[in-house]
Amino acid sequence: MAIREILTVPNPILKQVSKPVKAVTDETRALMDDMLATMYAAPGIGLAAIQIGEPINVIVMDLAKEGEEPAPRYFVNPEILEVDEEFVPYDEGCLSVPEVFDTVDRPKRCRITYLDYNGKRVTEWAEGLYAVCIQHELDHLKGVVFIDYLSKLKKTRAIKKVQKAQKLKAAS
Ligand code: ZN
Repeated sequence: MAIREILTVPNPILKQVSKPVKAVTDETRALMDDMLATMYAAPGIGLAAIQIGEPINVIVMDLAKEGEEPAPRYFVNPEILEVDEEFVPYDEGCLSVPEVFDTVDRPKRCRITYLDYNGKRVTEWAEGLYAVCIQHELDHLKGVVFIDYLSKLKKTRAIKKVQKAQKLKAAS
């Protein structure tokens, strides 16, 4: 397992639309292992492959709370089948937009289908933080980052904040 570099905004790679995976192979699993290690090290609760520069439809997630056993989840070719009409706000953050948090409204629940770590098909309803996270990560696969939902002013400010922090990091 290797910890990979997480791309940050405004890297144009994050705007790429990811492609479906043909089959869940050992290569896919090795990538998911790297993604999980990278996400835990960050630390974060979700990561899409494009965030480490791989434009394929793969997501990892772990929503376990502090003190709980790790509960990694793997999603290959995830798709949303239907969503609730009710929207709820959530204060979101993103490893590609470090230190920036803002409110995004999303459907409260969504029914998703995906292949798991072993290539088995899973179809289920996601709700609560799970629903927020899977919709946020699925957006990444379409080249959308959560700050794209904010006002132009807030988005520009967020990008500037990330660029400034990166410059300081490079200089230290
Ligand atoms: Zn994100």
